[in-house]
Amino acid sequence: MTDKKIKLALIGYPLSHSYSKIIQECAIKALGYEGSYDILETKPEDLVDRIKYLKLNNYSGFNVTIPHKVPIALFLDKVDDMTDCIGSSNTIKILPDKTFSGYNTDIYGFVSAISIEQRRKLNSSTVAIIGAGGAARACVMGLSKLGVKKINFYVRNLLKSKETVDFLREKFKNIEINIYQNQFLKDLSDTQMLVNCTPLGMRNHSMDLTPVAENIIKTLPPDGIVYDLVYNPMKTNLIKSAIKHGKTPIYGLDMLIYQAQKAFEIWTGELPNFDKLKIAILEYLLEN
Ligand code: NAP
Repeated sequence: MTDKKIKLALIGYPLSHSYSKIIQECAIKALGYEGSYDILETKPEDLVDRIKYLKLNNYSGFNVTIPHKVPIALFLDKVDDMTDCIGSSNTIKILPDKTFSGYNTDIYGFVSAISIEQRRKLNSSTVAIIGAGGAARACVMGLSKLGVKKINFYVRNLLKSKETVDFLREKFKNIEINIYQNQFLKDLSDTQMLVNCTPLGMRNHSMDLTPVAENIIKTLPPDGIVYDLVYNPMKTNLIKSAIKHGKTPIYGLDMLIYQAQKAFEIWTGELPNFDKLKIAILEYLLEN
């Protein structure tokens, strides 16, 4: 028996694709805790009841994913600077008095998967982002920390995405932020990194598709970077064409593990080992 007990969960809808349980249960075991990470599918109309359930059932904390990352703000008593800035939270700590503290570890995850050498190249550079949803907000905050000079968004629905882009322009005045219809993306020769922030390429969604055609990936500079936030499959079509044309890939799976690692540290004060978490997920992928 251990006195290190923890009860964690993930809320979102749908959750069938989530790897978080594997990563967090590996962290629980590796750091000598007794506990669980429960997958609690929660539709938007059930969010209030789910919050009550989490408060009444001795949870220490939980992760939040689509579609609750923004609406969860209504239930937070305290937020970290990142949540405050981008209005989206993915990690909640439940304090002994049952108050909720909200954090955003996607930004930490996004930046941590970028190597020191790549960060150096991104300073004062131009980045292209496909899609302008919740994850794109976290990426822009991460890129602002890395000193990126210009961000070009390519989106399918200009009108819908303009609100996010205007919000980001207001928050990050040090970055030139442009927005274009995705058909206008033809050449990336002035772009240091391309980031996919759409679900295009995801298993059980659009695995055969890619957000950017191979002939456009080819136009990135020789040291260009392709960062795909999609983590299932690990090697998306986008990542495959990046590798084929000698560009540097960054895997969404690494971002996912880093954000999970940080969340565990927020809940417990202990940072699990990244490699252990990665091995756990890779073993799972090999077996499934
Ligand atoms: P989101 O808020 O729903 O935003 C998705 C964005 O993609 C929106 O701009 C949406 O455009 C666009 N989009 C959706 N389907 C598209 C299509 N068929 N063609 C072109 N654009 C399309 O989702 P999110 O939270 O930003 O997440 C985006 C992706 O990142 C998901 O696959 C998610 O799993 C992944 N993610 C990974 C990590 C990680 O740790 N690796 C962390 C967070 C998110 P509209 O506005 O027109 O719908």
